[in-house]
Amino acid sequence: MDTVLQGTPILVLKEGTERDRGKSASASNIAAARAIADVVRTTLGPRGMDKMLVDSMGDITITNDGVTILKEVDVEHPAAKMLVEVAKTQDQQCGDGTTTAVVIAGELLKRAEALLEQNIHPTIITRGYQIAVEEATRLLASEIGTTVKPEDEAILLDCATTAMGSKGVFGSRDLLAKIAVKAVLKIVEKRGDRTIADVDQIKVEKRHGGTIADTELIDGIVVDKERGHPRMPRTVKGAKIALLNSSLEVKKTEIESKINIKNPAQIQSFLDEEDRNYRRMVESVKASGANVVICQKGIDDVVLHYLAKEGIFAVKQVKESDLQKLARATGAKIVTGVKDLTAADLGKAELVEEKKVGDDDMTFITGAVNPRSVSILIRGGTEHVTQEVERSLQDALKVVSSVIEDGVVCPGGGATEIDLAVKLRKWAPSVGGREQLAVEAFAQALEVVPWALTENGGFDAINTLIELRGAHDGANANRNTGVNMATGKAADMWKMHVVEPSRVKRQALSSAVEVANMVLRIDDIIASKKSSPSPPGGGPGGHDH
Ligand code: ADP
Ligand code: MG
Repeated sequence: MDTVLQGTPILVLKEGTERDRGKSASASNIAAARAIADVVRTTLGPRGMDKMLVDSMGDITITNDGVTILKEVDVEHPAAKMLVEVAKTQDQQCGDGTTTAVVIAGELLKRAEALLEQNIHPTIITRGYQIAVEEATRLLASEIGTTVKPEDEAILLDCATTAMGSKGVFGSRDLLAKIAVKAVLKIVEKRGDRTIADVDQIKVEKRHGGTIADTELIDGIVVDKERGHPRMPRTVKGAKIALLNSSLEVKKTEIESKINIKNPAQIQSFLDEEDRNYRRMVESVKASGANVVICQKGIDDVVLHYLAKEGIFAVKQVKESDLQKLARATGAKIVTGVKDLTAADLGKAELVEEKKVGDDDMTFITGAVNPRSVSILIRGGTEHVTQEVERSLQDALKVVSSVIEDGVVCPGGGATEIDLAVKLRKWAPSVGGREQLAVEAFAQALEVVPWALTENGGFDAINTLIELRGAHDGANANRNTGVNMATGKAADMWKMHVVEPSRVKRQALSSAVEVANMVLRIDDIIASKKSSPSPPGGGPGGHDH
C-alpha cells in the first residue's frame, strides 16, 4: 500500500485478527481472482458452455451470462469479490462484455505474477498496465473502430446477433435481434447534438407457455394485469386513460372502530354513506370522460362493479414503473385523488385491450400518442427459457443502443484483441524501462480472448493464434481477422457479421485493468475474524472494517 512506502504505519490489531502481508498476500489475492476468471472463461463466445447454478434453496438457473454466474456464485474471498464487481459494472455500462472483462482481468493478473517473480515491483506493473490501456483506448477510437450511423440497420442487426451469439437462444437469435433493433430504433431521440437511446423506456414482459418464436414487439405498453371485472368491456377503442396512484377504496380504520347503533335505520345510513363514497369515485371518473382507469393501488369490488356498469375498463395493482411508462406513452398525468381528475389529465391511445397470453390475461395499450412507446413480450416453453431470453435481449438492447449513441463498432471474434496486441507490442519499446515489460504483458493478456474462443470451440488454439498474428501484421494485414467458430480458422469478421460496439471493448479493457491494478496494489490483508453475536447489552461497536 502506498502508505507503507511513505513510512511504517502502526497498526493496532484486534485480538483474533488475521494478517497476511507482502508476497503471500498478493499471491493469495491473485490466486482467488484467477480462480473466478477460470470459472467463466469456458463460457466465453458462441461455443462456450452453459453453467447450471443451484442456490441454497435448490432453485436452478441455467445461463451462459458472465454477470449472472458471478452474481449467483457465493464468493468469500475479497479479491474474488472485486472481480465480481467488475462484471457488474461492465453489465451496467454496456450490458455485454462481462465475461471478456473478467477473463482479461484474470489474465492480466497471471502475467503480473510472472513479472513479480522476476522481482518487478507492483507499482511498475500497474503503471505499465495503465499506460497500455490508455494507448489501447486511443487505438480503438482512431485505428480499429469503424463509424456507423443509426440508419445502418444491417450493422445494428449484426451487433445484436453477435451479442446474443453465445447465449442459449441460438435458434431464435435472428428473430430476437430484429425485435431488439426495431425496439431501440423506436425510442431514439435527439437531445441537443447528442443521440440518446434509453433502453429503460422499453418495457420487457415475459410469460412462459408457447415458444421463443412467439416473442413479439408490441407498439405500445403491455401490463401484466387483467381487467378488474368480467362485465367490463374487453376492448376499448379511442381510449381515454386515467392513471391513478391512490386506491379506489374507502379507508378502513386501522383499529376496529365501534359504532353505536341504536336502531336498524342507522345501519342502513352507514352502508348508504359507504356506497355514496364509492359512487362518487365512479362519478368523478365518468365526469372526466375517462373510459379506462389504470390504478397503482387497489380498487374495491363495489367500485369495480359500478365502473363495469358504466362500461369503463379498469385494472388495479399496476406497478409504479408501468404507470410512469404509460404516462410517457399516452400523455396522461398521474393523479393522486380521483376527485381531482379532469379531462386534461387523461392520456390517449387507439386501443386498450385484454388478451390471453399463456394461461392468463394481460392488458395491451396500443397506438399511444407518443410513438416512442414499445414493449417486448417474451415467450418460451419454461420459466428458465424466458429468463435466459430476457438476459440475452437485455444485452442486445444495450448493445444496439451503444452503437446508436456512440456510432463506433469494431470486429469481434478476437479480431480487435489480436490487433491491439500486435500494435501494442510494436509500440512497447517506445515506452522503455521496466514498464515496457508490463505493456508487453498487457498485449499478451489480450490474446486470451481469441485463445479462449478457439479453445471453447474445441479447436487447437496455438495454431489459430499463430495464424491470427500473421494476418494482423505485414503488408497484407487485415485488421478484421478473427476466429471462425465453425472451423477454428482465421476469417474476416466483418464479412461474417461478427461486429461489436467499441464501447463494450473499451469498457472491458478499462474495467479489467482497474481491478487487476487494485488487486496488485494490495500487499496487506487484515481480516477480522467473523465476530460472534455480541452479548446482550454489548452495545454497538461489535464490527469494524
Ligand atoms: P461476454 O460476456 O464478454 O459478452 P460472450 O460469451 O458473449 O462474453 O462472448 C463474447 C465474445 O464472443 C466476443 O469476443 C465476440 O466477438 C465473440 N463472438 C460472438 N459471436 C461470435 C461469432 N459468431 N464468431 C466468432 N466470435 C464470436
Ligand atoms: Mg456477450
